[in-house]
Amino acid sequence: MLIGTMNHPERNVLEEIAWMADDGMEFIDLTLEPPGAASWEIDSRSIRAALDRNRMAVVGHTAWYLPMASAIPEIRAGAISELRRCLYKFAEIGAKWMNLHPDRHTPWHPRKFFIDCNVATIEELLPDVEKSGVGLMIENLPGDYNSAPQLGDLLDRIPQLGLHLDIGHANLQVPYNTTEEILEAYGKRLRHVHLHDNKGGHADLHLPLGTGTVDVRRNVQALRKCGYDGTITLEVFTPDRHHLLYSRDLLRKTWNECAGTAVAQRA
Ligand SMILES: [Zn+2]
Repeated sequence: MLIGTMNHPERNVLEEIAWMADDGMEFIDLTLEPPGAASWEIDSRSIRAALDRNRMAVVGHTAWYLPMASAIPEIRAGAISELRRCLYKFAEIGAKWMNLHPDRHTPWHPRKFFIDCNVATIEELLPDVEKSGVGLMIENLPGDYNSAPQLGDLLDRIPQLGLHLDIGHANLQVPYNTTEEILEAYGKRLRHVHLHDNKGGHADLHLPLGTGTVDVRRNVQALRKCGYDGTITLEVFTPDRHHLLYSRDLLRKTWNECAGTAVAQRA
């Protein structure tokens, strides 16, 4: 299992990689967003060189606000262009997976409309997935796409699509944390994980681990149980980096302590 964190989109990517390497981050969850990390401005060669130098891996993240399901065709086409550009940038940088935030902002339209639009957008990108060698995965989001059946509306229709589980999001606007339910249904398609804390309800607080209501041990056990051993991003957004370092240590310790979970399940 590798622990990493995300660059701040307002800051210079190379400077972000430098402090992450100093703080023992094993990969960068690279979000390509303006103004600091615009897909049309970043220098993928120097980013790749910095990652190689620091022996860091990379996972691709895209802007959360792309109108993938816009009811206005030209705007949806714009989202496709940006996602396509990101795929090839991530290929140059060395990422194997890129995330998507399924869209649901289509006022006056039924749910079926935006589900179909998300599917159409993803299908239009599939030839570029083939060419670039970078796979697509969808992140669960509060409000919709936050339960196994809701995610299934996309995952069941596109077999190539991976799952990107955000355990903090799975704690929001739900009667119970949906992590276990999602993993039971789609654990085999899990490609990447985000972890951060919050207090349930509507506020996506991105707190340090252990400061809200997300049960770190229980969720680590759920990941272990489905055989996951990939990348986990600490999406802890606080200005004091000590909170991130504490979260890193707590995650590593809990992960090691839960080593028996998968074995016990198989026995
Ligand atoms: Zn996330």
